[in-house]
Amino acid sequence: MSDYAPSTKFADQAVGKAALYDEAAADHEGFWAARAREYVTWSKDFDTTLDWSDAPFAKWFVGGELNVAYNCVDRHVEAGNGDRVAIHFVSANDDDDRAITYAEMQREVAKAANGLASLGVEKGDRVAIYMQMIPETIFTMLACARIGAPHSLVFAGFSADALRARIDDADAKIVVTSDGQFRKGKAMPLKKAVDDAVAGTSAKKVLVVKRTGIDVAWNDDRDVWWDDVVTPASDTHEAVAHDSEHPLFLLYTSGTTGKPKGILHTTGGYLVQCAYSNAVVHDLHPETDVYWCTADIGWVTGHSYIVYGPMANGATQIVFEGTPDSPHKGVFWEIVQKYGVSILYTAPTAIRTFMKWGHDIPEGYDLSSLRVLGSVGEPINPEAWRWYREHIGGGDTPIVDTWWQTETGAIMNSPLPGVTELEPGSSQAPIPGIHAEVLDDDGNKLTDPDAVGYLVLTKPWPAMLRGVWRDPQRYKDTYWSRFGPDLYFAGDGAKYDEKGNIWILGRVDDVMNVSGHRMSTAEIESALVSHDKVAEAAVVGATDPTTGQAIEAFVILRQDAADAADSADEGGELVTELRNHVATQIGPIAKPRSIMIVSELPKTRSGKIMRRLLKDVAENREVGDVTTLADSSVMSLIQDGMKSSG
Ligand code: ATP
Ligand code: MG
Repeated sequence: MSDYAPSTKFADQAVGKAALYDEAAADHEGFWAARAREYVTWSKDFDTTLDWSDAPFAKWFVGGELNVAYNCVDRHVEAGNGDRVAIHFVSANDDDDRAITYAEMQREVAKAANGLASLGVEKGDRVAIYMQMIPETIFTMLACARIGAPHSLVFAGFSADALRARIDDADAKIVVTSDGQFRKGKAMPLKKAVDDAVAGTSAKKVLVVKRTGIDVAWNDDRDVWWDDVVTPASDTHEAVAHDSEHPLFLLYTSGTTGKPKGILHTTGGYLVQCAYSNAVVHDLHPETDVYWCTADIGWVTGHSYIVYGPMANGATQIVFEGTPDSPHKGVFWEIVQKYGVSILYTAPTAIRTFMKWGHDIPEGYDLSSLRVLGSVGEPINPEAWRWYREHIGGGDTPIVDTWWQTETGAIMNSPLPGVTELEPGSSQAPIPGIHAEVLDDDGNKLTDPDAVGYLVLTKPWPAMLRGVWRDPQRYKDTYWSRFGPDLYFAGDGAKYDEKGNIWILGRVDDVMNVSGHRMSTAEIESALVSHDKVAEAAVVGATDPTTGQAIEAFVILRQDAADAADSADEGGELVTELRNHVATQIGPIAKPRSIMIVSELPKTRSGKIMRRLLKDVAENREVGDVTTLADSSVMSLIQDGMKSSG
C-alpha cells in the first residue's frame, strides 16, 4: 500500500503542499483570491472574487483586468527569463526542429497580433484556427488572446463539414490554417478542407502558413500567406488589458456521448486555475523542468496544459508534431531521453498502445529524467497505471490521474504528487479549491462504497465554462438541472471506495443495466485489460430481450498474444478464457455475452473510445454522428467483423 505514498524527497520539494487543502476548506473564495494574485499579473486588481448571484452564470474576479498573452509571454521576458526556451518544437519532418525562447515568442506573438489586426481582426471577433501542432498555432492563439478575439480551434483532421459547422456556429471572421501537414513522413493537404468549408460562411479571409510547400488552390480575394502578412509585421505590439470575464475561446467537446457542444471560456478565472493546477498537480518547477503534454492543441488539454497553464508559469516544454509510431515506435522515449523530459502528461489510450507494443521498446531508452507522470482523458485501467509506473516511471515515479472536462476548463480531481498516497485507476479527490461529490439518484451523498452514483461539482470554480455558445438554455439543461440550479452534473458515473477515493465509472449514458444490476463500462473494461493478453477493451450494453441489456465487449490483444492467436487460430478458446476471467474478477453477472477481437476501436481525435458507436453496431442500428472520429474506416471493419461472427 504505502508503495504508493510520496517519498520524503519528493514531498519536500513539491509545489503542492497539504496546507492548501486546509486553506481551501476554510475559505473557498479567499483561497481563489490568493491563487489569483499568486499566479496571475493583473493590470487592474479585482474587487469581488465570485459573483454567483445569477447562477449558473458565474463571474470570477469581477472588476479585474488582465492580458493573457502578457501573462504567458511578456512578463517572463520582463522578469529576465527571455532566454529560457519556451518550446522545443519537435518536427514530424526531417530536420526542422526548432527551439523558441520566451523572447522570440514575444516577437512572434506580436507579429501575429499585428498581422491579424491588419486583416481586420478586432477585439470580440472570433478566429477559427484549423492547424496542426506547429508553433504558429500557439502564436495565433496567444495573438488572439492579446487582441481579445476569442479563438475556436478545430482539429486539423476534422472534415470540411465539421469545420464549416464550427465556423458557422461561431460566426468566425477569419480562418487560420496551413497549406498541409506532415503525417508519417508524408505531406498531406490541409488548406483544401478550408477551401471546401468557408464558401458562404462568415469567414472572409483565410490566413495560410506555408508548412509543407505542397500545391494549394488560391483565391486572391480571400487567401493570404502568413509570410506576406505576419512575417513582415512589426515585432512589437502593445497588450491592452481585458475584463476578467472577456471571452477567451470557444471549444467543442469530443462528442463521445453525442453531438459536440460549443463550450465558452473566459479570461481571468480560466488562466488562474490553469496556472495553479499545472503548478501543484504536475509539480512544475519552471526553472528546471522539461515538461511535455502530448495532447493535441485542438483538444482542451492542449489549450490548458500546453498553451495557457504552462506558459503562464514560464515552463520549458516539448511540442511534438508527430505521432507515437512515426518514424518508429520508440519516438516518445527518444524525445524524453534527448530533451531530458521530467514531466510527462499523456492519455490512457497512448499508454495502452505502448503496453500493446511491449515494454522492450521503452527499455531501450534512458527515461531516468522523468519525475512526474500524468494521465488524462479516460479512466486509466489499474493494469495500465501499473505498467506506466513500472516501465516508464522506473517503479517509483508519482502518477497524477487527472479528471476534468472541456467544460471544467482545468483539472478538477487529481492526487497531489507530493501529498497523496496514490490509488491506481482512481483520480481520487478534488484538488484544493475544488468541491466534488458522488450523489445518488435523489441527490444525497453516497455512503455505500459499492453503490454507483453521479459525479457532481458542488461549488463554482474559476475555470468553469461560462456557457454553451449562444445557447443559455442548453447550458442550464445539460449541466444545472439534474440535481438543482447550483449543482453541476458532470455526466459521469462514479463511486467511492472504502478510503473515500472517487472512481470514475464511465458516462452515465453508458452505464448498463443487466438483469436489474447497474454495471459500469470502466470496471468491466479494466477487468479485461487486467488479463495479460489484452491491451484495450471497450464494453457496451446492448438491448437484450431477457436481461434488459447484455454486455458486449470489443477487445484489442497485446502484440505477442495477437501473433499467437493468429498462428494457432485459437480465437474461440481465448474468448471463453476472457469471459471467465471477467467472471472471476467481478462476478458471473459481469460476463460479456460476446467478445469480439478487433484490431482497432473507434476513437475520437483525442483518443477517447466512442462507445455510442459500438452500441449502435451491437444493436444493429445505423451508426450516429461520426464527425469527430479519428479514423472512420475503423467502424466498417468492426461492422464487417460483427456480420461474419454473428
Ligand atoms: P461529449 O461531452 O461531447 O460527449 P467528451 O465528454 O468526451 O465529449 P471531453 O470534455 O474531452 O469530451 O471529455 C471529458 C470526459 O472525459 C469526462 O467527462 C470523463 O468522462 C472523461 N475523463 C477525462 N479525464 C478522465 C480521468 N482522468 N478519469 C476518468 N475519466 C476521465
Ligand atoms: Mg462531456
